[in-house]
Amino acid sequence: MTGVNQIRSTFLDYFARHDHEKAPSSSLVPHNDPTLMFTNAGMVQFKNAFTGVEKRRHPRATSSQKCVRAGGKHNDLDNVGYTARHHTFFEMLGNFSFGDYFKEGAIELAWNLITREFDMPTDRLLVTVYHDDDEAYGLWKKIAGFSDDRIIRIDSSDNFWSMGELGPCGPCSEIFFDQGEKLAGGPPGSADQDGDRYLEFWNLVFMQYEQVAPGERVPLPRPSIDTGMGLERIAALLQGETSNYDTDLFRALIGAVAELTSVDARGPQAASHRVIADHLRASAFLVADGVTPSNEGRGYVLRRIMRRAMRHAQLLGAAEPLMWRLVPTLVAQMGLAFPELQRAENLIRDTLQTEETRFRTTLARGLSILDEETAALTAGAQLSGETAFKLYDTYGFPLDLTEDALRPRGIAIDKDGFAAAMERQRAEARKAWAGSGETATEAVWFAIKDRVGATEFLGYDTEKSEGVV
Ligand code: ATP
Ligand code: MG
Ligand code: MG
Ligand code: MG
Repeated sequence: MTGVNQIRSTFLDYFARHDHEKAPSSSLVPHNDPTLMFTNAGMVQFKNAFTGVEKRRHPRATSSQKCVRAGGKHNDLDNVGYTARHHTFFEMLGNFSFGDYFKEGAIELAWNLITREFDMPTDRLLVTVYHDDDEAYGLWKKIAGFSDDRIIRIDSSDNFWSMGELGPCGPCSEIFFDQGEKLAGGPPGSADQDGDRYLEFWNLVFMQYEQVAPGERVPLPRPSIDTGMGLERIAALLQGETSNYDTDLFRALIGAVAELTSVDARGPQAASHRVIADHLRASAFLVADGVTPSNEGRGYVLRRIMRRAMRHAQLLGAAEPLMWRLVPTLVAQMGLAFPELQRAENLIRDTLQTEETRFRTTLARGLSILDEETAALTAGAQLSGETAFKLYDTYGFPLDLTEDALRPRGIAIDKDGFAAAMERQRAEARKAWAGSGETATEAVWFAIKDRVGATEFLGYDTEKSEGVV
């Protein structure tokens, strides 16, 4: 079996042999980019090279980039634990051309890697192209020899990639693997494309434009290439597994969870094992990159991720804080590829232990309130915004933790009611202060509280904040 660490090296070495400069992963906290909450793709560190602002010594690069998609334009948090292919933290393997090769070079390099180095069976592969991209269509025919039914034209945002609301963007071509009839789902573009049978594992983006303002797109100085292959997904395919969680790396983490909790990882509580393993990686890498749990911005997203995992640890019956005890297994798996993980090991352990110790004191109480309040509710019902707010305010339950807890029972949350309850509390606090006569300090205090409060609110409702911190 080819392990995850070896697959990463094979990818990077292949592109290095083809004259790409190996670039280390950049931080999960994007430098000088207030438009983005977390690095969510390999191209983020090269954004200025695409737009021509930065001149690079070398026109080609390759990397394995740490990514977090738990907020903003690309938000996969709700999927995690419940799909076989989404993580909050994952590695994106990529090759980049800054005005050097374009579509033909990118398709040829990709095809040779997957069919010669990775030995993937060609008859299981298929691709999508943007609906009017005749050039990419023709190149796939020529290079891969695909018949027409294996090059699918897609007329949707799925085949037009953009990093966020602004920035470099362009049409793309995604590569899929047909995992066979044992899995449900139709080919890309079909009505039931969300099934697991056809797995997207690589996206080739033909960077041609820059979105400079909403509704305003200008051509880039030189057409460029940006690709992204999910390491966990390609590892699953090459290891003959249909779930990322069955790859060597995740097996080790999930095995550690099972050992520490004595709960079977293949049993009915498997989703909890998966959530814990996934969120452990996201938490550890975020702490290593300098994020600490807090009540606003990035720190609040980290806190949400940690607390969600901690609830699942509690579901598995963990009598003591669990997450910090998994850190050595993670460092053993990934520490060589990411030395920052080794350097921050103690900090990661301490941060997880402190957060979990603190949260456990209110978690159990909050969960029993949630049980009482929802005892009479059945699938399709809604939990009142008031109750969700009480759990948030008194027991520190982020909204998505409550959502995740109710999900298996098909119960939703009245989010408008939640927002209204939060607003009401703010107004009351303001009124109480107004009577105290401390006008000058009061003004300052409310200015701070409103700012912190507002950021905190956007923190978990990241769909609306679009990732802007
Ligand atoms: P999907 O449609 O499956 O959500 P995507 O189209 O949003 O994926 P891209 O933005 O094209 O993903 O990212 C490039 C590659 O990164 C994908 O082809 C996939 O292999 C991988 N990837 C994307 N999101 C995730 C995730 N949440 N977890 C693991 N891998 C991911
Ligand atoms: Mg996606
Ligand atoms: Mg996709
Ligand atoms: Mg894609």
